[in-house]
Amino acid sequence: MSENIIYKEIFKQIEKQPVIDTHEHLLWDESYRVNGEDDVLSEYLSHYLSSDVVSSGLKPVDLEKVRDKKRDIYERWKIVEPYWEASRFTGYGRALDISVKAIYDIDGINGATIRDLNDAFMKSKRPGHYNHVLKELCGIQVSLLDIWTFRLDGDNPLFKRVWQPLNFIIPASSAEGEVISNIEKNYSIRVNNLDHWMEACRKELDYMLATYGVKILKCSIAYSRSLRFEKVEYSVAKDSFNTALAKWEREGRLQGKSLELPIEVQDFMMHYILELANERNLTFQFHTGIQEGNGNILTNSDPSLMINLFTEYPDVDFDLFHISYPYQNVACALGKMFPNVFIDMCWAHIISPSASIRALDDFLDAIPYNKISAFGGDYLFVDGVYGHLYMARQNVSRVLAEKVKQGIFSLDKAVDIGKALFYDNPMRIFKL
Ligand SMILES: [Zn+2]
Repeated sequence: MSENIIYKEIFKQIEKQPVIDTHEHLLWDESYRVNGEDDVLSEYLSHYLSSDVVSSGLKPVDLEKVRDKKRDIYERWKIVEPYWEASRFTGYGRALDISVKAIYDIDGINGATIRDLNDAFMKSKRPGHYNHVLKELCGIQVSLLDIWTFRLDGDNPLFKRVWQPLNFIIPASSAEGEVISNIEKNYSIRVNNLDHWMEACRKELDYMLATYGVKILKCSIAYSRSLRFEKVEYSVAKDSFNTALAKWEREGRLQGKSLELPIEVQDFMMHYILELANERNLTFQFHTGIQEGNGNILTNSDPSLMINLFTEYPDVDFDLFHISYPYQNVACALGKMFPNVFIDMCWAHIISPSASIRALDDFLDAIPYNKISAFGGDYLFVDGVYGHLYMARQNVSRVLAEKVKQGIFSLDKAVDIGKALFYDNPMRIFKL
């Protein structure tokens, strides 16, 4: 059999298999999409391709014009067109063209199709579109939804929610208000010292685990600081916390702005959260590698900065997101060395399809294949998930076909490995 025939056979088999989607940012309640104001351009340019068109030269002020729903859609298309064309063949661009063909039967996003596409898109804003894309078209059994630091009510059979404990490390003001006042209200306590802060953190963690029924945490802190967390003495963290808290209280709780914790308290709290996670045998999803958007400190996200954590917390399963791109070689070595380090290809297939193929080729040569999860859409909007998953299935099939051709394993075994990567492994790694 030629490699192409092997590839097609593997792809056909993998397409029929169920998928666990390890990571999404979709709206947990579809009614927000149904009743929201987005049209196709504002939704599709909410992230990812928006970063590529800006990278290719579109001024941020013009991106805002393109996102402005009040303007005519064709006029907006003409503003973004040269930059979209330059970005069409990146992973982000390709995923969207694949999506609109499958979901709306429209051949590519361009000047000739943009009005028809928008009409079809607006008609899709009804209940059931999520189910249609995620279940019927994609075959996703469940998506792990990153709900950031929020508490959310209600449930959705398409999702399981994953919580970020970030507010206890870098408290941020949010739509829910200032963090400390919120915590004091929720737990009827007054935060006067580090012990209170640690107690609130433990209570909030256990509340989230019980409420959302998952044993998974998520950490996106590499957007804000380095992934190196030093071990800090309790007495040092305690004094530092008290000084920061006293200043914040003196300034009238900073008129609703959140307390900024000094770096040594941040480090201490990360270790404390990992102790709690270690006791509870949790899986901790960590953002590693490239940050979305235009401009950040890439080197903050190098997964080798976390080596002290892997060693110190052996009962925490660390799931390295996004293959740590462009540190995928480092991630590969870490996955090989540490029993509690796992590789997650979420977002990766659209960051760079070819890097994902090369990385998976390497992972399968170096790491036992039960440690790799093949797919997480990582999208804010549901249509993108289809194109991303299609590319993930292509990439995985390509790599497996090449290894069958080399005689490393049989075609049947390749299909088994495909199922492990898309389904069995994430089921086990995330304790679903
Ligand atoms: Zn994400």
